[in-house]
Order: sequence, then structure tokens, then C-alpha cells
Amino acid sequence: MRLSYPPASSYYAASIASSATLAIDAAKGHRETLRGEHRTDVVVLGGGIAGCSAALHLAKRGYRVTLLEARVVGFGASGRSGGQTIFGLAASQKALIDQIGRDDARRLFDLSIEALDLTQSLIREYAIDCDYRPNHVHVATKSRHLVELDDWARELHEEYGYTSARLLNRDELRAHVQSDRYLGGLIDSRSGHLHPLKFTQGVARAAEAAGAELFENSAVLRYEDGPEVLVHTAQGSVRCAHLVLCGNAYIGAVAPTLARRILGVGTYIIATEPLGEERLQSLLPSNAAIADINWILDYFRRSADHRLLFGGRVSYSAVQPPRLAESMRHRMMRIFPALADVKVAYAWGGFLDITMSRAPDFGRLSANVFYLQGFSGHGMTLTGLAGKLVAEAIAGTAERFDVFARIPHRDFPGGRLLRRPSLMMAMLYYRLRDLL
Ligand SMILES: Cc1cc2nc3c(=O)[nH]c(=O)nc-3n(C[C@H](O)[C@H](O)[C@H](O)COP(=O)(O)OP(=O)(O)OC[C@H]3O[C@@H](n4cnc5c(N)ncnc54)[C@H](O)[C@@H]3O)c2cc1C
Repeated sequence: MRLSYPPASSYYAASIASSATLAIDAAKGHRETLRGEHRTDVVVLGGGIAGCSAALHLAKRGYRVTLLEARVVGFGASGRSGGQTIFGLAASQKALIDQIGRDDARRLFDLSIEALDLTQSLIREYAIDCDYRPNHVHVATKSRHLVELDDWARELHEEYGYTSARLLNRDELRAHVQSDRYLGGLIDSRSGHLHPLKFTQGVARAAEAAGAELFENSAVLRYEDGPEVLVHTAQGSVRCAHLVLCGNAYIGAVAPTLARRILGVGTYIIATEPLGEERLQSLLPSNAAIADINWILDYFRRSADHRLLFGGRVSYSAVQPPRLAESMRHRMMRIFPALADVKVAYAWGGFLDITMSRAPDFGRLSANVFYLQGFSGHGMTLTGLAGKLVAEAIAGTAERFDVFARIPHRDFPGGRLLRRPSLMMAMLYYRLRDLL
């Protein structure tokens, strides 16, 4: 996967660069490059939320941890995300039951709720200033969606005893989003939204405070497995007892087995110029995050400095689509025609690591090499918990990690050359379904 989409083009990177307290150059980073030979207990590959959380939870358990990030902490999806922290997984509970049975599917649901709570407790415990706001609404754009939301609410209440999510009719929904486009919604008060780059950097700093060493501009080129693992970068190497791979859509040749099971799908966000609190409040009165339930969805929320952050579109090419800002603005205007005069200040993209089934893919490549991937566009909170679970597994209690590791995964069909075209055909089908 080509590392396109410079992180500096995002609103998040710009807002961190201008922050009085953080003032980080999101393009260059501020940590050292790994040089020379080192020895440690655990090497973590990747400075997204999954890698930083693994480093934090391992360091808290007393392990010596070295995290190696190819670019800068938050370079990947974690620093570019929509920032919507949402219950559940990308795969439906029904699909999970079919794959791993009712009991494990239930455990996964409970773990997804624990992931929400962990995000909030990390924010509190490490005083991570990341603009967290509660409330998230899944919205219906067609009558078929209302039936889906109704079934979903019933499943959540009756089968999972999850009571913080409730249905909203069209009138009630207007207290959260002022758009004629939506017919109803499902609001969850335990879900919410945050500034993903500030959160990722906050977890990274917590890991460092707990004793982990983080290196930037230190891409892992390859590793040699064995009783000890030897990890190579361009200018150094690290010998370790365990390696944790958290490279997401960028893992590529470092672990081809993993790369074959995920597809890096481009997805995009724009940030408007600041609109002022009053104007934004008239569109999104409760400051909840909003996402529709189409296959190719629109999702949006308010930023702390009163912009509209609007995400959507997918692309199966590794290159940013032409006229991105304009096409995203067009999508935004379908929902909020009153924003006709508003300028787009930032437009950026990133890669989702989707699996064939959309279920997350955690496991071991050998006794010493663990991996976390396949968050399939639903990783803002699950990545944090995934890091904690892999730390538990390395420390010898793998029960919870193994609930995920039991989910079966397949390679994308079509081999290296045909996997993208075959997926494009499948997505065309879903796109048509959205339109009908
Ligand atoms: C535009 C966009 C919007 C999204 N919106 C949402 C949302 O609203 N809600 C939600 O739940 N999820 C969302 N997601 C998904 C979510 O952001 C991801 O699931 C999550 O951040 C993945 O975290 P990660 O740590 O696994 O990977 P990443 O954050 O991608 O981190 C992987 C890191 O590994 C590094 N790396 C890769 N290979 C190497 C190597 N060889 N050596 C060293 N380092 C390496 C990369 O540079 C990168 O920094 C969105 C994603 C995108 C792209």
C-alpha cells in the first residue's frame, strides 16, 4: 500500500500544530529514529491507537516495550478518523452468531461496550484533552432503514440488555440533526465523538509515562521469528521475546499472510471553515455525532472550534480521488442545503483495513508474534481494548483475546491482481442497494 494522503492535510494535524499545549508537527513528529542494536521484552509495530494502547498496557504490567512507527504517531487511520466512538463491531451480531456461536458473539458485544468505557477511562486517567462529547445517532434515510433500526433496538434491549440506545421518531430526531433527509434514528448515550489525533497522541504519551520507548520514522522492514524475535528497521534492530503487529492497512510485505486478509479502502473527510457556535448548533443542536446506516455512509459531527466535520465516500484505489473537496461538499449540501455559502477548509483521506466479513482479525502468527487488525471502519474504541487484550494475552491470560482469535477469516479472493476489481464489483452491488 502506498503511503499517500499526507497527514498534514487534515484538520486534526492543523489543529494540533496550532494548539498551545500540544504544538506537535504532525508531519515530522518529535521522537527519535531507532538506531543501533537494542533488546527489549516486546516490540510493538505501529503508532495508531492499537499499537499505543498495547504499549501502554504492556508497560503498565512491567514489560520493557519498544514501539516502532514508520512515520509519526497517529499517521494512520487513528489520526485521520471521523472520531465517532460507537458501540458494537462493524460486523452485525447476527453475522457473528453464524460464525462463532451465540456465546462468543455475546462476549464480543460485551467487549465492545467495555471498549467504549475504556476509551473514557483512558481520557480521565491520563487527562487526555481530546474534546470528547457523548451521544451518537444512527439515522435512517429510507423506510427500510426504519425497520432495520427497529429490529436493532429490539435486539439490543431484549437479547443484550443494552438500554442506553433508544429509538427516535422523525420529530424527536430534530433535536439532534436539523435535516429533512432523515426519517428517524437510534441514539446511544454511551457512544460519542472525540478528536482522534489528540486521543492517539494522548495514549502515546501515557505509554511513555508508563515506561515504553516510542520511535518515529522507524519503519519495520522485516522480522526473523524464533525463540527470540529479531526486528529490523533501516538503521537498527531490536531483539525481543514478543512482537505485536498493529500496522493496519499498511502492514504489506512485513506480514503477507495478514495483508492478504485485509483490503485498504480509502475513505474521506472534509472540515468546513469555522461556522460559529450558533450556526452549528442550529444544525446539530445536541452536539451528537451522526452516521446514516447505508453501506456507503455519510457521517458528521461538530468540532470543538465549531466546524462541521463531514465524512463519507469510499475508494478502492490507493490514490486520492480527484476534486475530493468538491464532491464531499456536494454530499454535505444534500443534507444541509443551508450551507451553500460555506467554504471547505480541509479535505483528507485515510485507509480502513476491512476484512471479508467485517469482523476484527486478532490472533498469533507464531507463539511470539501477535497481531491486531481488521477493524473495518469501526476501530476508534475497539483498538484501545485490543491493545489491552493483547497485553493480557502476552502476560498469560489469553481468554478474552482468544474470543476474537476464534473468529475465522479468509483471504480476499482474486490474488494480488484481481482482489481490488472483484471487491469493486461487490461494492457496486451494495452501492446500488443503497440507491434503491
Ligand atoms: C477517514 C477515516 C475515518 C474513520 N472514521 C471512524 C469513525 O468515525 N469511527 C470509528 O470507529 N472508526 C473510524 N475509522 C477507523 C479507525 O480510525 C481505525 O479502525 C483505527 O484508527 C485503526 O487503528 P490502528 O491502530 O489499528 O491503525 P492505524 O491508526 O492505521 O495505525 C497503524 C500504524 O502503523 C504504522 N505502520 C504500518 N506499517 C509499519 C511498519 N512496517 N513499521 C512501523 N510502523 C508501521 C502506520 O504508519 C500507522 O501509523 C476511520 C478511519 C478512517 C481512515
